[in-house]
Amino acid sequence: MSERFRALFIDKTDDGQRAEFKDIAVDDLMAGDTVVRVDYSTLNYKDGLVVTGAAPVARTFPMIPGIDLAGTVETSDGDFSPGDKVVLNGYGLSETHFGGYAQKARVQSEWLVPLAGDMTTHDAMAIGTAGYTAMLCVMALEDHGLAPDQGPVLVTGAAGGVGSVAIAVLAKLGYEVAASTGREEEGAYLTGLGAAEIIPRAELSGDPRPLGKERFAGVVDSVGSNTLANALSMTKYGGVVAACGLAGGMDLPASVAPFILRGVSLLGIDSVQAPMEKRRAAWARLDRDLDLSKLEAMTRDVALSDIQNYAPQILAGQVRGRIVVDVNA
Ligand code: NDP
Repeated sequence: MSERFRALFIDKTDDGQRAEFKDIAVDDLMAGDTVVRVDYSTLNYKDGLVVTGAAPVARTFPMIPGIDLAGTVETSDGDFSPGDKVVLNGYGLSETHFGGYAQKARVQSEWLVPLAGDMTTHDAMAIGTAGYTAMLCVMALEDHGLAPDQGPVLVTGAAGGVGSVAIAVLAKLGYEVAASTGREEEGAYLTGLGAAEIIPRAELSGDPRPLGKERFAGVVDSVGSNTLANALSMTKYGGVVAACGLAGGMDLPASVAPFILRGVSLLGIDSVQAPMEKRRAAWARLDRDLDLSKLEAMTRDVALSDIQNYAPQILAGQVRGRIVVDVNA
């Protein structure tokens, strides 16, 4: 009889959705050419949406949530060998394909990224989709010509997952980082990651003006809405803003003034459909440009069996840094 393992399923019900653990076999997973024994997944903002049902992220039911995973290849008909350590995020995981909240995953080999350098599966999930997206933001700013001598870089949603990794990476690269947070009590945490200045969230969340004082050469924004509009209005002449998130709202009540009067550029960042070449480059950069001590300082482990307690917390903005999910606990 084939080995059975544990997976979390969510399913629609008449009055919402139900989450339940089931013991299943590989044949119960969706089709794919590679089976991965999962060590860790993570809790990202989007996982919070799926597990609580707060937004319609999952498109087929029942669904195994978990938008990312890291583990060891067990069998593969693709370009991987048993024993290879791999990381996977995006490609519809937890939307149209079973995700990482299970002890095994069956996926397409072309979705997998081999772990870079000495990175462990735990490191990879401490980084997770949030950290990898932070690196996509940094790479986009650099591609647009941003350099440390041009001035401070603003990171919004600073104490969250994307924000924490962005701060640590930018500081290591020599940027002066201004961290915007709604959690005053996290000031020491943020300066520990490398922030030079803490900006209270309220300074950026009010009604935006078309143009404000020029303060930032670059911005990594995971908040959206008024915060992104204010960040645009405070970006210096020729500066660049990477927008990846909506923790504060999906709208963008901005004016075109920063674009047409200051030549500011707004770059959109998507992690889910990013091409494989960019993914591999981002993971290699994370291996090089993110200090493991900083990563440890921002990471907490939780058991998959407790995930339903933590999912609402990330949506409420109460999670600091990154949460690694041990799918075997
Ligand atoms: P987290 O919850 O870890 O971080 C979000 C942070 O935003 C919070 O910690 C908080 O930071 C701040 N925040 C929360 N609510 C509000 C609010 N109402 N107004 C202003 N700030 C708020 O989430 P992640 O880091 O995992 O993800 C951040 C965002 O990026 C999400 O919207 C997510 O969907 C998006 N994302 C997009 C990806 C893409 O492919 N484009 C990939 C990954 C993430 P603080 O307490 O410091 O103020």
